Amino acid sequence: MENKLKPFKKMQLRFSKYIFFILLLIIPANAIASEKIKIVTSLPLLKEFAERVGGERVEVKSLLTGFESEHSYTPKPGDLLSVVEAKVFIQIGAGLEVWVDSLVRNAGNKRLIIVTTSEGIPLLKETEPAQNNDNPDTSDRDKHKLGNPHIWLDPENTKIMLKRITDTIIKLDSEGKEYYLGNQAAYIREIDNMQKLLSREIKQIKDRKIITHHQAWPYFARRFGFTIAGNIIRQVGSEPSARHLADLAGIIKKEKIKVIVSEPQLNQKIPKALAEDTGARLVTLTPIPGAIPGTEDYLSMMKYNVHQLVEALQDR
Ligand SMILES: [Zn+2]
Repeated sequence: MENKLKPFKKMQLRFSKYIFFILLLIIPANAIASEKIKIVTSLPLLKEFAERVGGERVEVKSLLTGFESEHSYTPKPGDLLSVVEAKVFIQIGAGLEVWVDSLVRNAGNKRLIIVTTSEGIPLLKETEPAQNNDNPDTSDRDKHKLGNPHIWLDPENTKIMLKRITDTIIKLDSEGKEYYLGNQAAYIREIDNMQKLLSREIKQIKDRKIITHHQAWPYFARRFGFTIAGNIIRQVGSEPSARHLADLAGIIKKEKIKVIVSEPQLNQKIPKALAEDTGARLVTLTPIPGAIPGTEDYLSMMKYNVHQLVEALQDR
């Protein structure tokens, strides 16, 4: 009996070896490793963009949650480890994430690819009305030289940012090229539809003058036809002077401005006091997704901000 089985066993062994080599030939290398591209982003908004393009082939972590101000974040110990393990770091740049340079340096990850999504986008200067020129310190002036970093609040800029992210991911994983380009095209269609919808909604209102909390809104205002008559805070981290607030109150009364925008990431007291003082309506908008219920992703945040603004600017 035993002797009869031996040749059969030998054949089985040879057959399984054969199968093994065939399998090696058909399974693509990345499926054996099954490793996703590790990406770290500064803002949750950039995490969303990378995930929309990269889908199941990427693993993305955002350092900020959306509740912090995008200007004054302090990295946590875990953030360093994330950057050490990442292949790609995506930021806005243009002087927004001042904390990134030292974080990346400390991580010492020589192979890290840094994607600066503001590159190739013409930046707007941060302008202030001439009468508000008190307190001109040099760091403030240096910051202004870089231009305004809140580019994503114009959907046309977002499309350029998406393309930069897609190009980088494709360079790292060319096998997924069709998949990434398909994802990008689908998302751009959604952005275009959103933009059309919002432009139509805004057409209903004629009075589009607003006061904003900090200089987050010029790209948004330019795209959708709003006029920003002044900002409460000119540099995040510093409180406005009494003189600046008196100037703003004067502008609101003189130009009959109906709406003041406040932001959940900043001190709410000052816009509230200014609204009470002038009789203007206070509306809370968020420049980064997640801080207000209903603004969990980029598209819903854009819609929320426009709905709120249109509602507040309407004649009652
Ligand atoms: Zn900002």
